[in-house]
Amino acid sequence: MTIPDVQGLGRVLAPSVPAPQSVPAPPSVAAPLSVPAPPAATATPPGAFSPEAARQDVPVLHRTVNGHPLVWLDNAATTQKPRQVIEALAGYYGTANSNIHRGAHTMAREATDLYEAGRAAVASFLGAEGPETIAFVRGTTEAINLVAQSWGRANLGPGDDILVPVLEHHSDIVPWQLIAKETRARVVPVPLDGTGQIDRAAYADLLSYRTRLVAISHASNVLGTVPPVKEMAALAHRYDAKVLVDGAQAVAHLPVDVQDLGADFYAFSGHKLFAPTGIGALYARPEVMAAMKPWQGGGNMIESVSFDRTTFAPPPHLLEAGTGHISGVVGLLAALDWLTSFDRDAVVSYENALMAYAEQAMAGVPGLSLIGAAAERIAVLTFTLAGHEPAAVADWLDRDGIAVRSGHHCAQPALAHYGLESAARASLSLYNTSEEVDRLVASLRALQRTS
Ligand code: PMP
Repeated sequence: MTIPDVQGLGRVLAPSVPAPQSVPAPPSVAAPLSVPAPPAATATPPGAFSPEAARQDVPVLHRTVNGHPLVWLDNAATTQKPRQVIEALAGYYGTANSNIHRGAHTMAREATDLYEAGRAAVASFLGAEGPETIAFVRGTTEAINLVAQSWGRANLGPGDDILVPVLEHHSDIVPWQLIAKETRARVVPVPLDGTGQIDRAAYADLLSYRTRLVAISHASNVLGTVPPVKEMAALAHRYDAKVLVDGAQAVAHLPVDVQDLGADFYAFSGHKLFAPTGIGALYARPEVMAAMKPWQGGGNMIESVSFDRTTFAPPPHLLEAGTGHISGVVGLLAALDWLTSFDRDAVVSYENALMAYAEQAMAGVPGLSLIGAAAERIAVLTFTLAGHEPAAVADWLDRDGIAVRSGHHCAQPALAHYGLESAARASLSLYNTSEEVDRLVASLRALQRTS
């Protein structure tokens, strides 16, 4: 990715403040290899992508937890941050902090340039038409609520349908339920097939001229499923429906091209893609963005205010009331720069190979059942272990320094599809290795031996 050359940016991304102290190299771990040799080493052409190089950039991966080197397999909840992001934040606060868009002084202008450079970088990362299609938000949840409140209130009415696949995260279900109640529209679940993929025939049947919106994940956080978004969007557009894509889980794993996908809206959270929490973005297709209505009022989103008549700034600023998360945008910019410094296709191949390795290795653990078997998936491995509650599994693994998530993963309907209320989930990222998978599997096997 090319970062726009704006004043102040270079200084912030290469700060003059001291870099965070370097962390000690990770102790070597003797991994018990009871599973086939990792496919990762052969599947990735030498030099195309090195998870080890990525790991070197991420300080927290080198800490210990409960006396063991950390194995971070909770990437679907949040990703760890490379030093480039940490340094960009320190650099911004150490040398360039200012509010933006107002104030005619040098630092306000520099901060504004940085903020707008972030917008341009997000647009380019998503393959969007231009920076004016991007609004900054707190994250995916806020982006979807924004669309529900701004677009939904203006465009939904009694008898309209919002189609929502059963695999969606709660943040792509509940905002639609709230606005549907207000507008007397209906939220219609789109069923899944046995593998956890969208039931295409059922989807085609549910679409009609009543459908105003299809809200769909680009990748599921619990099943890993990558739905056929492009095909679904094309079908929805035949009925003049809009398509919102929840990209929270996809952005760190798959190259995104919103125009190719046919997304009218695309939402993501920075923290799932190596950037800080509290910053995310909403893309809206230019015509859709231009027609957006205010959803929160305040500073920055107006042109002029009087008690007789208030006029508004054009989108996307219209959607950004109040002081934004400026340092978050700086961190996001650094994270995008870091992620796109890798060959994305090589990262996809590496993650696919690592996932295949993990699936094979985990399937050999007695009593372990993996949930979700769609042909297209990201590296999310949700599982149950016979004889153990998911919370107890996560707790056991934590004692070995291995972080996985247990619970309903904010996707209760997706788990209910499998008759479950709770499961454990190991979610991989580009900096995970087959040795870490080996540690997960060895710990799970040890747990089974205790029962
Ligand atoms: N959608 C999906 C698919 C997710 O995985 C998540 C986070 N787990 C969200 C939406 C919500 O993201 P955030 O909490 O960052 O707003």
